[in-house]
Amino acid sequence: MRLLLAEDDARLADQLGRMLETAGYAVDRAADGHQAWQAGGTEQYDAIVLDLGLPVLDGLSVLRRWRAEGVQAPVLVLTARDQWHEKVAGIDAGADDYLTKPFHAEELLARLRALIRRAHGLASPVLSCGTLTLDTRSGRVVHDGHPVVLTAHEYRVLAYLMHRPDTVVSRTELSEHIYAQDADRDSNTIEVFIARLRRKLPGIAIETVRGLGYRLVAHGGSGTAAHTP
Ligand code: CA
Repeated sequence: MRLLLAEDDARLADQLGRMLETAGYAVDRAADGHQAWQAGGTEQYDAIVLDLGLPVLDGLSVLRRWRAEGVQAPVLVLTARDQWHEKVAGIDAGADDYLTKPFHAEELLARLRALIRRAHGLASPVLSCGTLTLDTRSGRVVHDGHPVVLTAHEYRVLAYLMHRPDTVVSRTELSEHIYAQDADRDSNTIEVFIARLRRKLPGIAIETVRGLGYRLVAHGGSGTAAHTP
């Protein structure tokens, strides 16, 4: 899962950015409204954290532009304390949730998980697929009763697929959702991550759909999967 963090307070942005990365997200940062607007309009984010008090272009204008341009990513706005009218304006402009500064990091994480879940039509923070579960709160992956150790990238690939079960996800889409903008992207490495996940998760069907991408089969693990080694 990949996030945009639009916050001009460098200290807060550093703190939040590190925390979000630790929680398993790929994070892009924007320090002013113009940067935020551009990034949000061109990159694929699973959720956006948008401070309303941004320089160059204020957060509310950024949000209105995104919605007018058809950007659908869930947006959580950060508002200053006692600025209740900002919350109203933010929600009217298309925000999905808000937090008032100062806030607890855990609350931001919980709200982001909920936004991402809702965007995928999922109700529970624990995603499951046959004997495999992924707890989005702790990042813990359990298969057949045993914890599974994954690298950060393997985790992101699996989490993305588990948010979109039974859906074909292209390699391009996967790389857009697991790498931050400044990361070295190589779509061949996606194949490597998939191969490792298949090795670590025997019995879980991550199908290769030739020419299209990958699909995590949610129920039963068909056994007729067209795996390409
Ligand atoms: Ca600010």
